[in-house]
Amino acid sequence: MDKDFRQTVMAYLAGKLTCRQVAEAITDYLDGSLSFWQRVRFELHLGMCIGCRNYLRQMKKTIQLLGTLPPDPIPDHIRDELLRRFRTWSHHQKHTGERSEQEWR
Ligand SMILES: [Zn+2]
Repeated sequence: MDKDFRQTVMAYLAGKLTCRQVAEAITDYLDGSLSFWQRVRFELHLGMCIGCRNYLRQMKKTIQLLGTLPPDPIPDHIRDELLRRFRTWSHHQKHTGERSEQEWR
């Protein structure tokens, strides 16, 4: 497969998921209940989106702290707020390194 074509396919597959859909699928991803193709799309999106990578990392950290998945899906307004912050963080991180990790708590 030539490289340009592969990039086009990847962009297409990744483009099928929005950040919002990734946020919604994250608990399913972590407990392994995504289908193969959902998982592929999810991971492709993560590969291209620092905001969602940060989100996933924070989710894993939360799960470690709680010892389990959060019982309820994250309410919309909280998730939107988080996604907004992650976007700010990715700007931030260029200047402040790991500081954004501490701001989470
Ligand atoms: Zn994303």
